[in-house]
Amino acid sequence: MATHSLFLLPGDGIGTEIMLEVEKLIKWTNSEQLTDFSTDAGLAGGSAYDKYQVAITDEDTEKAKAADAVIFGAVGGPKWDDVPYEHRPEAALLRLRKEMAVFANLRPAICYPALADASSLKRELVEGLDILIVRELTGGVYFGEPKTITDLENGQKRAVDTQVYETYEIDRIARVAFDLARTRNNKVHSADKKNVMKSGVLWDEVVKGVGKDYADVELHHILADNAAMQLVRNPKQFDVMVTDNLFGDILSDVAAMLTGSLGMLPSASLGSPDPATGKRKAFYEPVHGSAPDIAGKGIANPIAMIASVAMALRYSFGMIELATKIENAISAVLSDGLRTGDIAQDNRKTVGTEEMGAAILAKL
Ligand code: ATP
Ligand code: MG
Repeated sequence: MATHSLFLLPGDGIGTEIMLEVEKLIKWTNSEQLTDFSTDAGLAGGSAYDKYQVAITDEDTEKAKAADAVIFGAVGGPKWDDVPYEHRPEAALLRLRKEMAVFANLRPAICYPALADASSLKRELVEGLDILIVRELTGGVYFGEPKTITDLENGQKRAVDTQVYETYEIDRIARVAFDLARTRNNKVHSADKKNVMKSGVLWDEVVKGVGKDYADVELHHILADNAAMQLVRNPKQFDVMVTDNLFGDILSDVAAMLTGSLGMLPSASLGSPDPATGKRKAFYEPVHGSAPDIAGKGIANPIAMIASVAMALRYSFGMIELATKIENAISAVLSDGLRTGDIAQDNRKTVGTEEMGAAILAKL
Protein backbone atom coordinates (compact mmCIF):
# COMPACT_ATOMS: atom_id res chain seq x y z
CA MET A 1 0.00 0.00 0.00
CA ALA A 2 1.17 3.49 -0.84
CA THR A 3 2.31 5.68 2.05
CA HIS A 4 0.13 8.68 1.20
CA SER A 5 -3.15 9.14 -0.64
CA LEU A 6 -4.12 12.00 -2.93
CA PHE A 7 -7.65 12.62 -4.11
CA LEU A 8 -7.77 14.60 -7.37
CA LEU A 9 -10.78 16.71 -8.26
CA PRO A 10 -10.01 18.38 -11.61
CA GLY A 11 -13.45 20.07 -11.82
CA ASP A 12 -14.38 22.04 -14.93
CA GLY A 13 -12.86 24.18 -17.67
CA ILE A 14 -9.11 24.58 -17.42
CA GLY A 15 -9.23 22.59 -14.14
CA THR A 16 -9.15 19.37 -16.17
CA GLU A 17 -6.30 20.62 -18.38
CA ILE A 18 -3.98 21.73 -15.58
CA MET A 19 -4.70 18.57 -13.56
CA LEU A 20 -3.12 16.53 -16.38
CA GLU A 21 0.17 18.26 -15.59
CA VAL A 22 -0.26 17.35 -11.91
CA GLU A 23 -0.73 13.71 -12.86
CA LYS A 24 2.49 13.76 -14.89
CA LEU A 25 4.36 15.38 -12.00
CA ILE A 26 3.15 12.79 -9.48
CA LYS A 27 3.90 9.95 -11.87
CA TRP A 28 7.45 11.27 -12.06
CA THR A 29 7.97 11.82 -8.30
CA ASN A 30 6.63 8.30 -7.67
CA SER A 31 8.84 6.76 -10.35
CA GLU A 32 11.90 8.51 -8.89
CA GLN A 33 10.83 7.17 -5.46
CA LEU A 34 10.71 10.71 -4.12
CA THR A 35 7.09 10.04 -3.12
CA ASP A 36 4.84 7.06 -2.65
CA PHE A 37 1.42 8.43 -3.55
CA SER A 38 -1.71 6.54 -4.43
CA THR A 39 -4.13 8.65 -6.43
CA ASP A 40 -7.83 8.47 -6.99
CA ALA A 41 -9.97 10.97 -8.88
CA GLY A 42 -13.55 12.24 -8.66
CA LEU A 43 -15.90 14.75 -10.21
CA ALA A 44 -16.74 18.20 -8.87
CA GLY A 45 -18.74 21.16 -10.11
CA GLY A 46 -20.46 21.16 -13.49
CA SER A 47 -18.87 17.89 -14.54
CA ALA A 48 -20.39 16.19 -11.48
CA TYR A 49 -23.73 17.87 -12.13
CA ASP A 50 -23.82 16.60 -15.71
CA LYS A 51 -23.35 13.03 -14.55
CA TYR A 52 -25.04 12.95 -11.13
CA GLN A 53 -27.18 16.15 -10.94
CA VAL A 54 -25.28 17.31 -7.84
CA ALA A 55 -22.15 19.49 -7.52
CA ILE A 56 -20.35 16.70 -5.68
CA THR A 57 -21.58 13.26 -4.66
CA ASP A 58 -21.59 11.93 -1.09
CA GLU A 59 -19.15 9.26 -2.20
CA ASP A 60 -16.60 11.75 -3.55
CA THR A 61 -17.05 13.94 -0.45
CA GLU A 62 -16.22 10.93 1.75
CA LYS A 63 -13.18 10.13 -0.40
CA ALA A 64 -12.00 13.73 -0.03
CA LYS A 65 -12.36 13.51 3.75
CA ALA A 66 -10.47 10.21 3.88
CA ALA A 67 -7.54 11.27 1.67
CA ASP A 68 -4.28 12.66 3.05
CA ALA A 69 -4.67 15.61 0.70
CA VAL A 70 -7.18 16.80 -1.88
CA ILE A 71 -5.88 18.46 -5.04
CA PHE A 72 -8.64 20.57 -6.58
CA GLY A 73 -8.64 22.23 -10.01
CA ALA A 74 -11.43 24.73 -10.54
CA VAL A 75 -15.19 24.65 -11.02
CA GLY A 76 -17.85 26.56 -12.92
CA GLY A 77 -18.65 27.94 -16.33
CA PRO A 78 -21.51 29.46 -18.31
CA LYS A 79 -22.83 26.00 -19.23
CA TRP A 80 -24.13 25.68 -15.64
CA ASP A 81 -25.52 29.18 -15.16
CA ASP A 82 -29.06 27.86 -14.95
CA VAL A 83 -28.67 24.82 -12.71
CA PRO A 84 -30.58 24.99 -9.39
CA TYR A 85 -28.75 27.19 -6.87
CA GLU A 86 -27.99 24.36 -4.42
CA HIS A 87 -26.29 22.38 -7.19
CA ARG A 88 -24.30 25.23 -8.76
CA PRO A 89 -20.66 24.23 -9.37
CA GLU A 90 -19.32 26.39 -6.50
CA ALA A 91 -21.47 24.38 -4.08
CA ALA A 92 -18.88 21.59 -4.39
CA LEU A 93 -16.19 23.85 -2.97
CA LEU A 94 -18.35 25.11 -0.12
CA ARG A 95 -19.42 21.58 0.82
CA LEU A 96 -15.84 20.32 0.86
CA ARG A 97 -14.56 23.28 2.92
CA LYS A 98 -17.35 22.81 5.43
CA GLU A 99 -17.23 19.02 5.73
CA MET A 100 -13.44 18.91 5.81
CA ALA A 101 -13.51 21.81 8.33
CA VAL A 102 -10.52 23.46 6.70
CA PHE A 103 -10.47 26.68 8.69
CA ALA A 104 -7.00 27.93 7.77
CA ASN A 105 -6.55 29.28 4.26
CA LEU A 106 -2.92 29.85 3.31
CA ARG A 107 -2.29 32.12 0.36
CA PRO A 108 1.31 32.84 -0.50
CA ALA A 109 2.12 35.86 -2.63
CA ILE A 110 5.51 35.18 -4.15
CA CYS A 111 7.04 37.40 -6.77
CA TYR A 112 9.28 35.43 -9.09
CA PRO A 113 12.20 37.64 -10.16
CA ALA A 114 11.51 37.01 -13.87
CA LEU A 115 7.98 38.40 -13.48
CA ALA A 116 8.72 41.41 -11.27
CA ASP A 117 7.94 43.79 -14.11
CA ALA A 118 4.41 42.36 -14.44
CA SER A 119 3.50 43.64 -10.97
CA SER A 120 1.36 46.72 -10.54
CA LEU A 121 4.19 48.07 -8.37
CA LYS A 122 7.76 49.02 -9.25
CA ARG A 123 10.23 46.14 -9.55
CA GLU A 124 12.26 47.16 -6.48
CA LEU A 125 9.16 47.09 -4.27
CA VAL A 126 8.20 43.51 -5.21
CA GLU A 127 11.32 41.68 -6.34
CA GLY A 128 11.88 38.81 -3.90
CA LEU A 129 8.49 39.37 -2.26
CA ASP A 130 7.39 36.33 -0.24
CA ILE A 131 4.30 36.90 1.91
CA LEU A 132 2.06 34.24 3.40
CA ILE A 133 -1.45 35.36 4.23
CA VAL A 134 -3.26 33.12 6.70
CA ARG A 135 -6.99 33.73 6.42
CA GLU A 136 -9.62 32.33 8.77
CA LEU A 137 -11.97 30.50 6.40
CA THR A 138 -14.94 29.02 8.25
CA GLY A 139 -16.16 31.78 10.58
CA GLY A 140 -16.76 35.51 10.76
CA VAL A 141 -19.24 37.61 8.85
CA TYR A 142 -19.62 35.09 5.99
CA PHE A 143 -21.31 32.61 8.31
CA GLY A 144 -22.51 34.58 11.39
CA GLU A 145 -26.21 34.59 12.26
CA PRO A 146 -28.49 36.49 11.92
CA LYS A 147 -27.96 37.06 8.22
CA THR A 148 -31.12 38.56 6.82
CA ILE A 149 -32.83 41.09 4.59
CA THR A 150 -36.21 42.21 5.97
CA ASP A 151 -38.87 44.59 4.67
CA LEU A 152 -39.50 47.60 6.85
CA GLU A 153 -42.89 49.26 7.37
CA ASN A 154 -41.74 52.43 5.61
CA GLY A 155 -41.14 50.46 2.39
CA GLN A 156 -37.39 50.35 2.87
CA LYS A 157 -35.39 47.23 3.60
CA ARG A 158 -32.91 46.32 6.30
CA ALA A 159 -29.93 43.99 5.71
CA VAL A 160 -28.02 42.35 8.54
CA ASP A 161 -24.78 40.42 8.52
CA THR A 162 -23.21 39.32 11.75
CA GLN A 163 -19.54 38.99 12.54
CA VAL A 164 -19.03 36.27 15.14
CA TYR A 165 -15.77 34.86 16.45
CA GLU A 166 -15.23 32.68 19.47
CA THR A 167 -11.96 32.30 21.34
CA TYR A 168 -11.21 28.79 20.01
CA GLU A 169 -11.59 29.90 16.39
CA ILE A 170 -9.08 32.73 16.82
CA ASP A 171 -6.76 30.60 18.94
CA ARG A 172 -6.46 27.81 16.36
CA ILE A 173 -5.87 30.11 13.37
CA ALA A 174 -3.30 32.10 15.36
CA ARG A 175 -1.43 28.87 16.17
CA VAL A 176 -1.34 27.95 12.49
CA ALA A 177 0.17 31.37 11.72
CA PHE A 178 2.76 31.21 14.51
CA ASP A 179 3.76 27.65 13.58
CA LEU A 180 4.23 28.73 9.96
CA ALA A 181 6.23 31.77 11.05
CA ARG A 182 8.65 29.41 12.79
CA THR A 183 9.31 27.65 9.48
CA ARG A 184 9.95 31.03 7.83
CA ASN A 185 11.22 34.27 9.37
CA ASN A 186 9.62 34.31 12.84
CA LYS A 187 7.44 37.31 12.13
CA VAL A 188 3.64 37.63 12.25
CA HIS A 189 1.40 40.62 11.57
CA SER A 190 -2.12 40.23 12.93
CA ALA A 191 -4.68 42.44 11.16
CA ASP A 192 -8.08 43.40 12.59
CA LYS A 193 -10.25 46.47 13.23
CA LYS A 194 -10.18 46.53 17.02
CA ASN A 195 -10.68 50.29 16.94
CA VAL A 196 -14.29 49.82 15.75
CA MET A 197 -15.18 46.12 16.14
CA LYS A 198 -15.64 43.99 19.26
CA SER A 199 -14.61 40.91 17.27
CA GLY A 200 -11.38 42.79 16.57
CA VAL A 201 -10.83 43.41 20.28
CA LEU A 202 -11.21 39.68 21.01
CA TRP A 203 -9.09 38.80 17.96
CA ASP A 204 -6.21 40.91 19.21
CA GLU A 205 -6.53 39.67 22.80
CA VAL A 206 -6.48 36.00 21.77
CA VAL A 207 -3.66 36.40 19.22
CA LYS A 208 -1.53 38.19 21.83
CA GLY A 209 -2.29 35.40 24.31
CA VAL A 210 -1.24 32.71 21.83
CA GLY A 211 1.84 34.80 21.06
CA LYS A 212 3.05 34.20 24.64
CA ASP A 213 3.57 30.54 23.67
CA TYR A 214 5.75 31.72 20.78
CA ALA A 215 8.22 34.07 22.43
CA ASP A 216 10.64 33.47 19.53
CA VAL A 217 8.16 34.93 17.00
CA GLU A 218 7.87 38.71 16.59
CA LEU A 219 4.19 39.72 16.74
CA HIS A 220 2.96 43.00 15.27
CA HIS A 221 -0.59 44.31 15.42
CA ILE A 222 -1.87 46.23 12.39
CA LEU A 223 -5.29 47.69 11.60
CA ALA A 224 -6.70 45.97 8.50
CA ASP A 225 -7.12 49.20 6.52
CA ASN A 226 -3.54 50.17 7.24
CA ALA A 227 -2.47 46.65 6.21
CA ALA A 228 -4.09 47.22 2.80
CA MET A 229 -2.26 50.51 2.44
CA GLN A 230 1.08 49.09 3.57
CA LEU A 231 0.73 46.15 1.15
CA VAL A 232 0.80 48.53 -1.79
CA ARG A 233 3.26 50.97 -0.19
CA ASN A 234 5.96 48.63 1.08
CA PRO A 235 4.90 44.97 0.86
CA LYS A 236 8.26 43.47 1.75
CA GLN A 237 7.82 44.52 5.41
CA PHE A 238 5.39 41.57 5.76
CA ASP A 239 6.15 37.88 6.15
CA VAL A 240 3.20 36.00 7.70
CA MET A 241 -0.06 37.91 8.05
CA VAL A 242 -2.98 36.42 9.98
CA THR A 243 -6.48 37.82 9.70
CA ASP A 244 -10.19 37.01 9.69
CA ASN A 245 -12.35 35.72 6.86
CA LEU A 246 -13.47 39.06 5.38
CA PHE A 247 -10.24 41.01 5.75
CA GLY A 248 -8.32 37.95 4.57
CA ASP A 249 -10.40 37.73 1.42
CA ILE A 250 -9.57 41.32 0.55
CA LEU A 251 -5.95 41.45 1.72
CA SER A 252 -5.03 38.22 -0.06
CA ASP A 253 -6.42 39.57 -3.35
CA VAL A 254 -4.41 42.76 -2.90
CA ALA A 255 -1.27 40.72 -2.19
CA ALA A 256 -2.01 38.48 -5.18
CA MET A 257 -1.96 41.34 -7.63
CA LEU A 258 1.44 42.46 -6.38
CA THR A 259 2.83 39.31 -7.97
CA GLY A 260 1.46 40.00 -11.45
CA SER A 261 -0.82 37.14 -12.37
CA LEU A 262 -3.67 34.98 -11.20
CA GLY A 263 -2.33 31.98 -13.12
CA MET A 264 0.69 31.81 -10.76
CA LEU A 265 -0.94 31.62 -7.33
CA PRO A 266 -1.49 28.46 -5.28
CA SER A 267 -3.43 28.04 -2.03
CA ALA A 268 -3.88 25.57 0.79
CA SER A 269 -6.72 25.11 3.25
CA LEU A 270 -5.98 23.15 6.41
CA GLY A 271 -8.05 21.68 9.22
CA SER A 272 -7.15 20.85 12.83
CA PRO A 273 -4.67 18.06 13.50
CA ASP A 274 -6.40 14.76 14.28
CA PRO A 275 -5.73 14.05 17.98
CA ALA A 276 -4.86 10.41 17.22
CA THR A 277 -2.69 10.74 14.12
CA GLY A 278 -1.65 14.41 14.10
CA LYS A 279 -2.70 14.60 10.45
CA ARG A 280 -4.64 17.62 9.19
CA LYS A 281 -7.31 17.46 6.51
CA ALA A 282 -5.95 19.49 3.64
CA PHE A 283 -7.23 20.95 0.44
CA TYR A 284 -4.97 22.46 -2.24
CA GLU A 285 -6.17 24.53 -5.18
CA PRO A 286 -5.04 27.33 -7.47
CA VAL A 287 -6.42 30.76 -6.61
CA HIS A 288 -7.79 31.26 -10.12
CA GLY A 289 -11.09 29.89 -11.43
CA SER A 290 -12.05 27.65 -14.34
CA ALA A 291 -11.34 30.37 -16.95
CA PRO A 292 -14.16 29.45 -19.37
CA ASP A 293 -12.85 32.00 -21.88
CA ILE A 294 -9.72 29.93 -22.56
CA ALA A 295 -10.95 26.43 -21.62
CA GLY A 296 -10.29 23.68 -24.16
CA LYS A 297 -7.57 25.64 -25.94
CA GLY A 298 -4.60 24.07 -24.17
CA ILE A 299 -3.19 27.49 -23.24
CA ALA A 300 -3.93 27.67 -19.49
CA ASN A 301 -1.01 28.36 -17.20
CA PRO A 302 -0.43 25.23 -15.06
CA ILE A 303 1.93 26.96 -12.61
CA ALA A 304 -0.64 27.81 -9.89
CA MET A 305 -1.79 24.19 -9.96
CA ILE A 306 1.74 22.77 -9.85
CA ALA A 307 2.68 25.22 -7.08
CA SER A 308 -0.39 23.98 -5.16
CA VAL A 309 1.07 20.46 -5.31
CA ALA A 310 4.34 21.88 -3.97
CA MET A 311 2.34 23.33 -1.06
CA ALA A 312 0.83 19.89 -0.44
CA LEU A 313 4.31 18.36 -0.31
CA ARG A 314 5.42 21.06 2.12
CA TYR A 315 2.42 21.30 4.45
CA SER A 316 0.83 17.83 4.36
CA PHE A 317 3.86 15.61 3.88
CA GLY A 318 6.82 17.58 5.26
CA MET A 319 8.69 17.11 1.96
CA ILE A 320 10.24 20.55 2.12
CA GLU A 321 13.18 19.75 -0.13
CA LEU A 322 11.04 18.39 -2.96
CA ALA A 323 8.59 21.30 -2.61
CA THR A 324 11.44 23.79 -2.85
CA LYS A 325 12.83 21.93 -5.85
CA ILE A 326 9.51 22.29 -7.68
CA GLU A 327 9.28 25.99 -6.79
CA ASN A 328 12.84 26.48 -8.04
CA ALA A 329 12.01 24.64 -11.28
CA ILE A 330 9.08 27.03 -11.81
CA SER A 331 11.35 30.00 -11.20
CA ALA A 332 13.97 28.56 -13.58
CA VAL A 333 11.61 28.08 -16.54
CA LEU A 334 10.40 31.64 -16.05
CA SER A 335 13.98 32.88 -16.01
CA ASP A 336 14.54 30.97 -19.28
CA GLY A 337 11.82 33.20 -20.74
CA LEU A 338 9.06 30.59 -21.01
CA ARG A 339 5.63 32.20 -20.78
CA THR A 340 2.02 31.11 -21.11
CA GLY A 341 -0.28 33.75 -22.61
CA ASP A 342 -1.47 35.18 -19.27
CA ILE A 343 2.06 36.12 -18.17
CA ALA A 344 3.53 37.03 -21.55
CA GLN A 345 5.16 40.44 -21.70
CA ASP A 346 6.00 42.29 -24.93
CA ASN A 347 5.71 40.04 -27.99
CA ARG A 348 7.50 37.04 -26.64
CA LYS A 349 6.49 33.68 -28.08
CA THR A 350 4.16 31.85 -25.70
CA VAL A 351 3.85 28.17 -24.84
CA GLY A 352 0.80 26.06 -24.01
CA THR A 353 -0.17 24.15 -20.87
CA GLU A 354 1.58 20.91 -21.83
CA GLU A 355 4.78 22.59 -22.93
CA MET A 356 4.99 24.59 -19.68
CA GLY A 357 4.34 21.46 -17.60
CA ALA A 358 6.96 19.52 -19.55
CA ALA A 359 9.52 22.30 -19.16
CA ILE A 360 9.07 22.30 -15.37
CA LEU A 361 9.44 18.51 -15.31
CA ALA A 362 12.55 18.76 -17.46
CA LYS A 363 14.11 21.19 -14.94
CA LEU A 364 13.37 18.70 -12.18
P1 ATP B 1 -14.01 32.31 -10.17
O1 ATP B 1 -15.32 32.98 -10.00
O2 ATP B 1 -14.11 30.82 -10.38
O3 ATP B 1 -12.98 32.71 -9.17
P2 ATP B 1 -13.10 34.29 -11.94
O4 ATP B 1 -14.27 34.99 -12.50
O5 ATP B 1 -12.36 34.93 -10.83
O6 ATP B 1 -13.49 32.81 -11.58
P3 ATP B 1 -11.04 33.07 -13.49
O7 ATP B 1 -11.64 31.82 -13.99
O8 ATP B 1 -10.06 32.95 -12.41
O9 ATP B 1 -12.17 34.09 -13.16
O10 ATP B 1 -10.41 33.87 -14.69
C1 ATP B 1 -10.18 35.26 -14.70
C2 ATP B 1 -9.34 35.60 -15.92
O11 ATP B 1 -8.02 35.14 -15.73
C3 ATP B 1 -9.85 34.98 -17.20
O12 ATP B 1 -9.67 35.84 -18.29
C4 ATP B 1 -8.99 33.76 -17.37
O13 ATP B 1 -8.82 33.38 -18.69
C5 ATP B 1 -7.66 34.19 -16.73
N1 ATP B 1 -7.01 33.04 -16.09
C6 ATP B 1 -7.34 32.48 -14.90
N2 ATP B 1 -6.56 31.44 -14.62
C7 ATP B 1 -5.71 31.32 -15.65
C8 ATP B 1 -4.64 30.39 -15.95
N3 ATP B 1 -4.31 29.38 -15.13
N4 ATP B 1 -3.98 30.56 -17.11
C9 ATP B 1 -4.30 31.56 -17.95
N5 ATP B 1 -5.27 32.45 -17.72
C10 ATP B 1 -5.98 32.34 -16.59
MG1 MG C 1 -12.42 34.78 -8.68
